Amino acid sequence: MSRLVVVTGVPGAGKSTVIEGALKQLKSQGVGYRVINYGDVMLELMREREGVIDRDEMRRVSTGPYREIQRDAARRIARVAKRKPTLVDTHCLVKKPDGYYPGLPRWVLEELKPESIVIIEATPKEVAARRTRDVTRKRDKEILDEVMEHQILNRAVATAYAALTGATVGIIHNREGRLSEAVKE
Ligand code: ATP
Ligand code: AMP
Ligand code: MG
Repeated sequence: MSRLVVVTGVPGAGKSTVIEGALKQLKSQGVGYRVINYGDVMLELMREREGVIDRDEMRRVSTGPYREIQRDAARRIARVAKRKPTLVDTHCLVKKPDGYYPGLPRWVLEELKPESIVIIEATPKEVAARRTRDVTRKRDKEILDEVMEHQILNRAVATAYAALTGATVGIIHNREGRLSEAVKE
């Protein structure tokens, strides 16, 4: 298995944007990484099996089929990630209608075997503003305390994932208008 780094953060924290920048920077240094968006793989399977067509609707699918699709997505990602160092764009915890759901339960960790887990963070105010500004997505509108709670729990569960796998945990602050600093970090 090649090196695999999991990149997480609440919706709108800036994972995909930071990853895009990091990929360009790594490429300019001659370091080839592949990026796999876990949500893309989930969406493909959801479309086939559940008829869900919107990425932001997936989290409302009931936990039984959701868990199965998550597991199959992990297998698919692990297969693809075998040959090249990979960044996986994903979530520590998915906020479903019935509660927080682990993005990396034991069976996903066993497939992916991450070397590092990165959490991209921003202040709740910045996250809320990014969600409102980004009209390409249908992210949940939350009060600032809810965004804060999600970020606190992400840190907690990321360290639990680390304890299970021996992965390291890194926290990157993606400050407003200072994307290049987060990319560099
Ligand atoms: P999701 O989990 O929902 O996919 P995400 O964490 O991948 O969310 P992005 O789509 O990367 O989030 O970013 C959300 C929005 O915030 C985008 O419109 C992006 O351009 C903007 N953004 C990201 N980082 C910054 C930054 N440092 N300063 C200002 N805007 C930013
Ligand atoms: P994203 O584009 O990162 O917002 O991902 C879209 C959706 O994919 C999320 O809202 C989740 O429903 C799902 N998803 C992404 N990663 C995982 C994961 N590790 N486990 C379960 N669902 C995931
Ligand atoms: Mg994203």
